[in-house]
Amino acid sequence: MINEKSLAWGRSKSCIRELAGYASARKAEIGIENVFDFSIGNPSVPAPPQVNDTIRALLDNTDSTMLHGYTPAPGLPSLRKAIADDLNKRYDANIIPEMVYVCCGAAAGLCSSIRALLCDGDEVIAFAPFFAEYTVFTEAACGRLLSVPPMDDMQPDISALESAITEKTKILIINTPNNPSGVLLTEDSLNKIADVMRKAQEKYGHSIYLLSDEPYRELVFDGVSTKSATRFYDNTIICYSFSKSLSLPGERIGYVAVSSTMAERQDIFDAICGAARGYGYVNAPSLMQRVVENCMGLTSDISAYKRNRDILYKGLSDCGFDCIKPDGAFYLFVKSPEPDAKAFSERAKKYELMLVPGDDFGVKGYVRLAYCVSEKTIVDSMPSFKKLAEEYGL
Ligand code: PLP
Repeated sequence: MINEKSLAWGRSKSCIRELAGYASARKAEIGIENVFDFSIGNPSVPAPPQVNDTIRALLDNTDSTMLHGYTPAPGLPSLRKAIADDLNKRYDANIIPEMVYVCCGAAAGLCSSIRALLCDGDEVIAFAPFFAEYTVFTEAACGRLLSVPPMDDMQPDISALESAITEKTKILIINTPNNPSGVLLTEDSLNKIADVMRKAQEKYGHSIYLLSDEPYRELVFDGVSTKSATRFYDNTIICYSFSKSLSLPGERIGYVAVSSTMAERQDIFDAICGAARGYGYVNAPSLMQRVVENCMGLTSDISAYKRNRDILYKGLSDCGFDCIKPDGAFYLFVKSPEPDAKAFSERAKKYELMLVPGDDFGVKGYVRLAYCVSEKTIVDSMPSFKKLAEEYGL
């Protein structure tokens, strides 16, 4: 006998991976330039030059056994301090270095935090649309994920949140800017969410934690930005990754930061360390810890994403598609012209357009386009979108 759940996760491919696989096969058959692959969220702009410069300098000037050796389990002390300082300076957060745990990307941070917090029967709430892996991360910690449907503009429905919270609720996950909608939570929404959570804590007599998943934090257009979630709600844990901001998704580097205003912060932090230990996640990549410390506060050039957003949003809107205008990240959420988004995605394949159905993100009737592609791909895809729109009489 083996673990049935693990077997099922290992064997089931996400819709995104399946579509990306299909896109690769089509590219091999008909040429890369003839396939408009909007399936996967892999950054398309290079890391800032300081990243490679730092790697070279580290390789040349640092003792190899130290450079590639184990670091303290929660990360290098100098990096933990740099992270806390950066969060406090740029986002008015209230983080102290002792509450920072450096880990392998946001995924490891989310898994460790969820595992640390959940006890038998506890539930996690996420606002739809949400990153599909939240379900796996929650179930791996023996919890249950419930989703709260969004408003038409993909902002969270606060009264639906109020109805969804029960005595079993332990965690609310927010993700801003959002994958897959690109929508940024406004300060007004954050205030309202915090209000509902404080009331629920009082009503049920136990802590409810806000898990703020922020891998796209710096990918925000039009100068819109908000203060740290820790300023809105005391029981906040930030899960961050340098995957998107520094274009380093394969290097697996990120962190968890527990708000210093959380009353039980030491217990929660220690439990996160313990959960990471239980998962075997100790020691984020040692070379990368030094790289991100040296590149703290830098961001890849996101002007290409903004240009892509503008071209794609206008192009698709002009074709007659109903799109949610993204404030950030690199995703566009488009309403399917037929109720079944999977059928729409299948039909789009006829024009070599790879669009991910929103069902896996907890919202039916939408598709996600990852526009972290070349500008040429977007421009060249427009005639195909026009033909697709015509098929629907738009
Ligand atoms: N959370 C969201 C919303 C994401 O989109 C992703 C990755 O795409 C992650 C978490 C995981 O980030 P990482 O690959 O850095 O672990």
